Amino acid sequence: MDTGKRAFLKTKVICTVGPASADPGTLAALCDAGMDVARLNMSHTGHEEARLAARRIRECAASSDRPIAIMVDLQGPKIRIGRLDGPRMLASGDVVGLAPADRAAGEELPVSYPDLARDLRPDDRVLLSDGQIELRVREVAPPRVITEVVLGGEVSSGKGVNLPGVRVSAPSLTEKDLADLEVALEIEAEYVALSFARSAENVLDLRERVPEVVSVVTKIEKDSALEELEAILGASDAVIVARGDLGTELPFEQVPLAQKRIVRRANARYRPVVIATELLESMIERPRPTRAEVSDIANAILDGADAVLLSAETAVGRYPVGSVRALVRVLREVESEGPLLKGGPLYDVPAASASEAPVSTEVAVACATVEAVRAIGAPAIITYTNSGHTARVVSSRRPPVPILAVTSSARVQRQLAMVWGVLPVLCRESLSEDNMRAVARAELLRTGLAGPGDRVVVTAGLPFHVRGTTNMVRIETI
Ligand code: PGA
Ligand code: MN
Repeated sequence: MDTGKRAFLKTKVICTVGPASADPGTLAALCDAGMDVARLNMSHTGHEEARLAARRIRECAASSDRPIAIMVDLQGPKIRIGRLDGPRMLASGDVVGLAPADRAAGEELPVSYPDLARDLRPDDRVLLSDGQIELRVREVAPPRVITEVVLGGEVSSGKGVNLPGVRVSAPSLTEKDLADLEVALEIEAEYVALSFARSAENVLDLRERVPEVVSVVTKIEKDSALEELEAILGASDAVIVARGDLGTELPFEQVPLAQKRIVRRANARYRPVVIATELLESMIERPRPTRAEVSDIANAILDGADAVLLSAETAVGRYPVGSVRALVRVLREVESEGPLLKGGPLYDVPAASASEAPVSTEVAVACATVEAVRAIGAPAIITYTNSGHTARVVSSRRPPVPILAVTSSARVQRQLAMVWGVLPVLCRESLSEDNMRAVARAELLRTGLAGPGDRVVVTAGLPFHVRGTTNMVRIETI
């Protein structure tokens, strides 16, 4: 096993922890292989399991001396098929009834959503099993809905139900979500993710229920979320391009351009953006990725993603650690701009001044920081950041060198583990400029990112305790 110091990667790695990876040995190996954020998917994780996993993740982080964030992913109003005695074959042309789980009779399919008949209209589409099966509504007969199978297939217990284009009236946080949220707060999750958000109000509703130190992540997986992207970005601390459900709610061919648009807009508004789902799907079963998967990962980085997320690959796959290693190999190659890419612009962040002039002070400072790095060939940027804000703004301009983010909050340090290009370090002393400078210098020398005599670019918001005041850029000699 590689025990040497890991080279710094700008793109961050999120692993879903599940039965294949929750044991201490595998968690430690994931951490060693490059996991920056551990995701607990509450659709499949019980409360005791979540507590235990969180304890072990914190232990791994402590023993590897690396900041690792925990993301608790709330299931949201995901609709599922209820319990079936066994898998059922649906053939094209069959007539199938859907009914709330406690009302389903005979051959009807039980569905975990009581208001089906209120939200659906004749001719609406109902998709089962990630869109593998398509039904069309023929008749609404409350509380049931009669459908005809357009595209047949096998359906089994617990499979997802998507209602593309339908305004689902279910609350965005279910009772289960509220109970799961309590566990998220108890384990001090740095990130809480909201599934199936339909509007910015849904996001604000979650935000009101968590302390300010918890970052709210919105999963973009509904067509209406895409329509309201700007408002959702405004209300969110970060977003996930949740391609699995998004590609069921939208025609799948629309997902690639939606991904690019979400990433671009998130970069412009300095919200960390994560690409999720099926990145290494084939590695659930096999030790090597397909070439198409490798290319997809590379393109996610080139689009400007902050982080890439593995789901079943690490949660239930046969090669959880191998998947992370494969992912990291691709990240490393693409970030090194490999021999074939020399000279071309790698990250295409639209110039802030060109698209949205006049820009805010913080974006102007971030742009000036990147300019200065290029002008003097600085090996690193140092940001002094209280809430992590300055580091996120600088990161969003995708500078060519690591951003050393010095913060006095261990929680902010862990949060920044998900932000592109940031190497977060903790200043345990009081928050004076001298103390922060000493911490930054020691870390640059320890990691070999810079040596004595090197000039680095320093940026911060002064005074420190005021949030969102990135206003200073300076050049210092180490
Ligand atoms: P999920 O969300 O893994 O919770 O389904 C991700 C997606 O839909 O892509
Ligand atoms: Mn989803």
